[in-house]
Amino acid sequence: MLKAVKVRLYPTTEQEIALAKSFGCARWYWNYALNACIQHYEETGKSLKVSVYKAYLPQLKVEHPWLKEDCYSAVLQCVAINLNKAYANFFEGRARFPRFKSKHHKQSIQYPQNVKVMGDCLEIPKIGVIKAVFHRPIEGKIKTVTISKTPTDKYFASILLEIEGAESQISGDKIQGIDLGLKDFAIVHDGNEVIKYSNPKHLKRHEKNLARKQKKFARKVKGTNSRNKYKKLVAKVHERVSNSRQDFLHKLSRKLVDESQVIVVENLNVKGMVRNRKLSKSISDVGWGMFVNFLDYKLKAKDGQLAEIGRFFPSSKTCSCCGHVLDELTLDIREWDCPSCGTHHDRDSNAALNIRNEGIRILKNGEPLAVDGFPGISKVANPKGGGNPVIADRGCVRPPTRKGKGQRSVRSEARTVPDRVGVG
Ligand SMILES: [Zn+2]
Repeated sequence: MLKAVKVRLYPTTEQEIALAKSFGCARWYWNYALNACIQHYEETGKSLKVSVYKAYLPQLKVEHPWLKEDCYSAVLQCVAINLNKAYANFFEGRARFPRFKSKHHKQSIQYPQNVKVMGDCLEIPKIGVIKAVFHRPIEGKIKTVTISKTPTDKYFASILLEIEGAESQISGDKIQGIDLGLKDFAIVHDGNEVIKYSNPKHLKRHEKNLARKQKKFARKVKGTNSRNKYKKLVAKVHERVSNSRQDFLHKLSRKLVDESQVIVVENLNVKGMVRNRKLSKSISDVGWGMFVNFLDYKLKAKDGQLAEIGRFFPSSKTCSCCGHVLDELTLDIREWDCPSCGTHHDRDSNAALNIRNEGIRILKNGEPLAVDGFPGISKVANPKGGGNPVIADRGCVRPPTRKGKGQRSVRSEARTVPDRVGVG
């Protein structure tokens, strides 16, 4: 099993300079190789193989001696591998076309070997022994170490570890259905009771502060120190928003995963929904995609299962008691009575329960339920990954493989117009 641990680094001034040089070399080679790939494609219509641009390295090191002096050679090998991965992600529809790297954005380099943990420090080839803060002991074999510098000048090391056997974890056996929304972030039904977790609205709390700093930043003359200062201040607010969002999503997903064996969610077309101008800010801020990612990998770590139900499943309009499907249920109706069996429903609890029931039904039968002529789900995410709903006749096709180590990507959604906006 692979596990990533992120630690904060505190390099000395000399180490910062050495890191800046390594970032520079890696960036330069990335841009050089990417440019070579683009040119090769323009000339021949074919893509350049990774082995070809890897083989440029010895000659490049002769032409540019700093490439050899300032940078650990395995770091450059990693750049080639990562560029190749970026191309594969693009060709398989998971990501945008690889972009040139700029020294004004986040910087990172990857070490595939020879990084050692020494007490409170990390020993990095060509850089030295850097002070680090570990919140938990590093156990297992180090696979790769990625060192990054944020726009707010903080340094981190992300250490990928190989651990033998699964972790011992708290193992609840609930099956929970989750309806994701904007007012309440998550409405969770476990078959007996429903719990609503309100939306913390991370961005809203920082909005005024952010607007003020962005305004000041925009007024500064380009290239001045004062502009750079405000650029950092704006980046700091963004960092705070993103940290508090991640903290919330990690804690809630941890709680739900600890309680359950199976979690059922709707397959949300986040990308399509973000195109809705009125709601795009709130939808990006709420972080549904990241939340489902967190649920997915945390469940995998304990051999649990995440089930995704089809986007066209009418979770709100169906009576969870008798199965009657309403013709219409507008967003403003929060409570309703079933015309068939008379049960009184709270809109959100009913939807969460339907999601749960549909998940259980799919796990038992493995058969999708066709609704209103739309096929339901065709596959359920399994611990080995690769189970994405494929709804061919509606143009929704997700690529067959998932990115990285069990991470799923919501960006890979096909561009379809949403039939609902996920609030109901
Ligand atoms: Zn009913």
